Amino acid sequence: MSAIDNLPPLREVIAEHGLSARKSLGQNFLLDLNLTAKIARQAGDLSACDVLEIGPGPGGLTRGLLSEGARHVLAIEKDSRCLPALNEIAEAHPGRLTVMEGDALEIDPLAHLTPPIRVAANLPYNVGTELLVRWLTPPDWPPFWQSLTLMFQREVAERIVAKPGSKAYGRLALLAQWRSDARIVLQLPPGAFTPPPKVSSSVVHLTALPEPRYPADPAVLNRVVAAAFNQRRKMLRASLKGVAPDIEDRLRAAGIAPTERAEQIPLEGFCALAREVARR
Ligand code: SAM
Repeated sequence: MSAIDNLPPLREVIAEHGLSARKSLGQNFLLDLNLTAKIARQAGDLSACDVLEIGPGPGGLTRGLLSEGARHVLAIEKDSRCLPALNEIAEAHPGRLTVMEGDALEIDPLAHLTPPIRVAANLPYNVGTELLVRWLTPPDWPPFWQSLTLMFQREVAERIVAKPGSKAYGRLALLAQWRSDARIVLQLPPGAFTPPPKVSSSVVHLTALPEPRYPADPAVLNRVVAAAFNQRRKMLRASLKGVAPDIEDRLRAAGIAPTERAEQIPLEGFCALAREVARR
């Protein structure tokens, strides 16, 4: 028996259902249920929340979320081989787990969720980054989620929480920190996964702020930040030339020296610049 529920240990589940990990699906499984419960705890109090889990695989994190008291979990998995194992978990927790087969990049899960909603996932890193950017850039704010608790390659996690002046600082940091609090809450060595990946991983927890930290039009801010970091070594007066013909004046009006580089500008500065660029 496992430590946290009455279902069989994950190694048995994997053997019984023939769930050998597939590289093409980015499958590195977490089999230690104490660890998955610990990750689930980082997501906060789940007892009054629906949890959207992407990529449950054999269900280690799913079992953690349920044992930590999630009101309801909606789990979306692309690999049909995992469905029988996930359905066994659903049977053990009547009415608390809904499993959907499909690609999380294509499914809109909102019809199946009741707010408040938290998101938790251990996903392949490329899918995770793409979903994170989508979740951070909805048409309206606040977004559908209260928090995101996501596993990333350590290097990606560091880009999400990076501060100005560091190499990791860029578009992802600004996008994440403009409208949410982002923290690294756990570090995991490769050996925590089966099979072990090449690099260490980190769990990042993001909490949605009710309002942006500084006012700015999202599309303009995105344009300015993308242009500034596309040529991050250049001075802003050069990298932002295409953004507005009088960009040097607008930079000065925002309190930024045109000779500075993107890496040195804090979030507040980019928001001020976005407001100046939006001014007619
Ligand atoms: N959450 C499980 C765990 O922690 O052991 C599995 C983690 S494994 C890194 C990633 C999981 O995401 C795999 O089960 C894989 O099949 C699934 N996956 C990959 N791409 C996906 C996609 N586009 N949509 C939904 N699931 C996906």
